[in-house]
Formats: sequence, C-alpha cells, structure tokens
Amino acid sequence: MSILAVGTVAFDSIDTPFGSAERVLGGSASYLTLAARPFCEDVRLVGVVGHDFPDEYRQVLANGGVDLEGLEVDEDGKTFFWHGQYHYDMNERDTLDTQLNVLASFEPDLPASYLDSDIVCLGNLEPGIQRDVLDQVHDPDFVVADTMNYWIENTPDSLRTTLSRVDCFVINDAEARELADEPNLVRAAGQIRGMGPETLIIKKGEHGALLFTDESVFSAPAYPLEDIQDPTGAGDAFAGGLAGHLYRTGTVDEDALRRAVIYGSVMASYVVQRYGPDRLLDLDPTAIAERARSFRELAAIPKLVPLDKQLV
Ligand code: AMP
Repeated sequence: MSILAVGTVAFDSIDTPFGSAERVLGGSASYLTLAARPFCEDVRLVGVVGHDFPDEYRQVLANGGVDLEGLEVDEDGKTFFWHGQYHYDMNERDTLDTQLNVLASFEPDLPASYLDSDIVCLGNLEPGIQRDVLDQVHDPDFVVADTMNYWIENTPDSLRTTLSRVDCFVINDAEARELADEPNLVRAAGQIRGMGPETLIIKKGEHGALLFTDESVFSAPAYPLEDIQDPTGAGDAFAGGLAGHLYRTGTVDEDALRRAVIYGSVMASYVVQRYGPDRLLDLDPTAIAERARSFRELAAIPKLVPLDKQLV
C-alpha cells in the first residue's frame, strides 16, 4: 500500500509582519509527502526541480523518508519559485511572484514502481499535469486534490476537467468562493461537489475546516497556537495528513473522513510553527496522537439541556 503525491517542489520566499525567510524549501509536493510520511512507510513524490536545487534540500525530503525516484531534475532550467506576503491577519496573503520555471515544460513520466499507487494526492499544480499523473497510475483507490487561485484564474476549464476525476477536493474558503462564483460557502460547496468530487473539504485557516459529504456537514476546529511563524504549506500538510490517515484505515466512510480531517488539521498545526517544512521532520507518533486527542477536547460539547428543563 502506498501514497503518491504530485506537486511543486519549490523555493519559497516568505514575508510576514513579524519576520521573513528567503528561498526556503517549499512546494505542495514537499509539504504533502512529509506530512503523509508519519502515517505511511511508502510515500512517493512526483515533481521537477531545476539545476539550482541544492542537495541539502533534496536531503531534507530523503531524510523525511520520502521516495524521490519520481523527482525529475531538469538541468536546463530553474526550480519553481514562489514569493508570498502575509498580512497582520495571517489568514490573508498575497502572492508577490510566481515563477513557473521548469514547471512550465514538465511532463511527468512516472517510474514503473509508482504505477500501482493506492492513494493519489494531486497537490496544487497545473491541472493538466495533475491529469497526466492520474492517466498513468493504474486504477487508484482514492484521489485527493488541491488547487490554488492561480489555477482557478488561469486554467479554469482544465481545472474542471481534473475535478471530474477527483474523489476528495481540498480547497480554502476564498478559493471555494472564487471557483463557484458564490459568496455563501454552503451553496459554493454544493456547486463544487456538482463538478465531480463526492467529498469536499473547505479549509478556513485558523478557523478550522468544513467537510461536506452526501451524508452530512462536519466542522473541525483549528488548533489554537500562540506561535505561528509561517502559514505556508498548511493546506498541503493538511492534505498529506488526511491522505495518511485514510491510508491507515483503508476505508473512506464518514467516520474515517472526519478523523482524517482531524489528522490533516494536526499536521497543518505543526507546519505553521516554523518556516518551511522542517517541523514535520521531528514528529513522533505519540506527539501526533496527543495533538489529535486535544482536538477532540477542543470541540467537545457538554450534554445539552432542553429549554423546558431546569439548567441546574
Ligand atoms: P499552501 O500554503 O498550502 O497553500 O501552499 C503553499 C505552497 O504552494 C508553497 O510552498 C508554494 O511553493 C506552492 N505554490 C505557490 N503557488 C503555487 C502554484 N501556482 N502552483 C503550485 N504550487 C504553488
């Protein structure tokens, strides 16, 4: 059993009102794979980097136990670069620069050993490339996908074609509103599920996440943290933890999906505590389980008393 994740492997420059970091390891595939790895021994990465990608960053992914056979090196170009700036309210960010570089000509050619992958995570990436990967994997059990405003605005038709092949779509609230062209999140969710994905998760940054299925709507809290350094990658780490938990349970029923949202939230809560994905590297299963338990306590509602009964 295995998880395959395709996405960007990037240099990220990040500015927040409280600090900045230049050209740290980033990219949707980096965060996805490192967040899925504590749940699954066999996590495979598909992506591309350029001649400027340092061995030190490759080692971070390798030391995290990620299979890098599918990480192509394009010697003719430079690695994908993203520059983001967060506002005082760190739920808000602007993209200052996106340089696709080697991603612009990337045509994934999966190693033979990847073709039997069970769960496929289509990380934030050009939707045509997401489909190229799906076309190659033999009959995956479950497909999780993410995207970003960049692709909603630049490749809307291609994104819809990809969505028709996705089981679980993970998107943030602003992107959901933009994709559905609908300000109300519940109505937007209905429209997006109509585009294909049976399961939809809308992430709301520090306000948690909503899970929409045929059966119900589930609302998960976010972990209240005092030390948020850099929210970059939270969405991808969320998807990695989610896929990791589904891999572990081997089922995608309502309970499994709800728990997966919690494990996704746990991994996201770790990643925001540092610049880059480093925080994901030193996590042990006990710490992950403990934080998941505190999520249950966070959202525990005491027994409710009907209005016609005395409160004491
Ligand atoms: P998140 O904070 O989870 O939305 O993910 C941020 C990560 O996505 C950063 O590490 C970026 O390198 C990467 N990224 C930014 N823009 C794009 C894009 N247009 N396509 C793919 N990946 C991107």
